[in-house]
Amino acid sequence: MRKLVSVIVPVYNEQAGINDFLDKELEPALEKLAEETEIILVDDGSRDESLKLIRAWGTEQKQKVRIIALVKNFGKEIALTAGIREARGDAVITLDADGQHPAEEIPRMVEKWHKGARIVTAVRAQNTTSHRLGSWLYYRLMRRLGNQSVHEGETDFRLMDRVVVEEFNRFTEHNRMTRGLVNWLGFPQEHIKIQTKNRKKGAPTYSLRKLMTLAGDSLVSASRTPLLIFGYIGVGIMLVSGAVGLFQLVQEYILGDPLGIEWGGGVAVSLFVAFLVGLVLISQAMTALYVSQIHAEVKNRPLYIIDREKSVGLDDGKK
Ligand code: UDP
Ligand code: MG
Repeated sequence: MRKLVSVIVPVYNEQAGINDFLDKELEPALEKLAEETEIILVDDGSRDESLKLIRAWGTEQKQKVRIIALVKNFGKEIALTAGIREARGDAVITLDADGQHPAEEIPRMVEKWHKGARIVTAVRAQNTTSHRLGSWLYYRLMRRLGNQSVHEGETDFRLMDRVVVEEFNRFTEHNRMTRGLVNWLGFPQEHIKIQTKNRKKGAPTYSLRKLMTLAGDSLVSASRTPLLIFGYIGVGIMLVSGAVGLFQLVQEYILGDPLGIEWGGGVAVSLFVAFLVGLVLISQAMTALYVSQIHAEVKNRPLYIIDREKSVGLDDGKK
């Protein structure tokens, strides 16, 4: 039996370029494959004509096109997740709709898959966009904080074998970064180098503000270090002020001030206040740790909601 390759494209307000991308980039690339293919377009609650356009495009196609219409904008990571869960392929490929991920590399990815690779990730040879400084900082910070599961230059243009997809589908967390999760799974990966191009049409939807939020979110969900820092500072303050206070107590009131240090009321009060601040910081960090634990557990809402009427070709009733 011929193998099936699923291609997943998240689409959010891409009316300006989506048809060109599908006709001129994705189609020609998929024609080169010997496998059967299915295209899964995930409309992430676009507010423009994207959904209409892809529905029209889908009905014109001879090959299998399925459309997942999410009821609102859930963000790219969730859109990808919806597509990956719905995919039936023996291999699943994800790429952006804006032409920044060169679809012509798909055959090369599939080739590597045939040779046994279970994950093939495209790595940017160069950053072309203004995100350069931001992403440099971001990766620096992530590594500093001990999160080893993101690497600079890695993109979401990726092929995953069915084995990997099944494991990926077990993740339930909401706050997710596909790259981080896939890396966390720990399957060996192969890489291909790509030149990312500039977005063809339309505006990137990840504004700087959105990128910062994403960075902040993944920082918090990936690492507890930010929480703990204040706890450590608290411990430091408490130890130092406690030690100094104790020293002075002993040397002045018990030993009768042999060193002749003026104790002075101001110093005593300052030390006491510092000691209390340390205590407060520690208790705050403790609370934060509990909150973070609870937060991790409470993530139980559905990840996304599909508008089944507007979707095309989904398994009815299932999932
Ligand atoms: N996208 C999405 N939901 C969003 C934002 C973006 O599905 O809320 C899609 C978008 O249509 C594109 C891909 O995710 O296919 C990457 O988006 P964009 O080009 O805006 O981001 P960047 O290239 O800066 O990563
Ligand atoms: Mg883009």
